[in-house]
Amino acid sequence: MEIKAWAIKQYKQGLTKYTYEKNVGENDVLIQIKYCSLLKADIFFIDNFWGDTKYPLVPSSEMFGVVVKKGKKVNNIKIGDYVGVGYQTDACLKCTSCREGKEQFCNKQRVIAIHENGGLAKHIIVNSNFVYLIPSNLQKPEYVSLLGYGLTSYSAIKHANLKKGMAVGVVGLGNLGHIAAQILVSKNHTVTAFTHTEEKTTQLKKIGIRRFINPLNEKDLDKNKGTFDYILVTTYHDYDWSKFIELLKPEGNLHFIGLPNKNISFPAILLADYARRTVSGSYIGSRKEMKELLLFAEKKNIRALTQVFSISEVSKAISILRNNKGPFNIVIKISV
Ligand SMILES: [Zn+2]
Repeated sequence: MEIKAWAIKQYKQGLTKYTYEKNVGENDVLIQIKYCSLLKADIFFIDNFWGDTKYPLVPSSEMFGVVVKKGKKVNNIKIGDYVGVGYQTDACLKCTSCREGKEQFCNKQRVIAIHENGGLAKHIIVNSNFVYLIPSNLQKPEYVSLLGYGLTSYSAIKHANLKKGMAVGVVGLGNLGHIAAQILVSKNHTVTAFTHTEEKTTQLKKIGIRRFINPLNEKDLDKNKGTFDYILVTTYHDYDWSKFIELLKPEGNLHFIGLPNKNISFPAILLADYARRTVSGSYIGSRKEMKELLLFAEKKNIRALTQVFSISEVSKAISILRNNKGPFNIVIKISV
């Protein structure tokens, strides 16, 4: 069938209407899209920042919609269900990672922007194993980014095994960071936000963040040496990462879910000197974690601070994101 979408047809071109052919396979569902997000990560794909974008590119890796057709082997989803799709759209479900419930590490996985067209479209066809039922309380634009940035944050924080009362920090309080910070706050951690954007602090206080440190202020960083158990990096900005390792307690962990532009470098002695500090990273999360997150988000009201744009304003939204002038989260209304 013909899918109507919006795409960047070639590198450096603007967004235009685009149609592509795809049929509903026996394990697939056809979803009529209601909302999709536009993230800074979409701009990186549009601009081929990581070098692996396939054009034509239909952006958006987080979307909500309603199932309008399903393949004959689909029995986990019904026609009329309100569902969500995130960055990962398929995996082999047979390899060791898949069998261990870590299908986000599958070598044969398929993801939006590299293997699949995204959610900036009237419809999308996705394997039903990677389609998630959205609880009725969450069927609003501010919850769309749970599917990507929410999952990435939730999975990283879950695997950190943080204990009650641990001192935690979040570096970068943009779209990804403000969702991660809410998850940490809702788990009763005292969260320090490392941000140099003062205009954001009023809104960040509203979502429960009480403590702020400017990561560019060396004196403030020095004063807090050795005081953090866990620091989650959600930014693509480059900082002097040795300063952040120095902020960690002897068994502290600096964990990257944002990907800074340049190589990370620091003296190895900072990991080992009277300490067992670690630096780590992670990528999205599993299907099980997505289901856990949706329940957790409903209970704790984890949501993105969102501005909704109409489809006619999508080029404006891309330009706002490219210039870093946007609200925390942008969602495009496709058909509501
Ligand atoms: Zn696999």
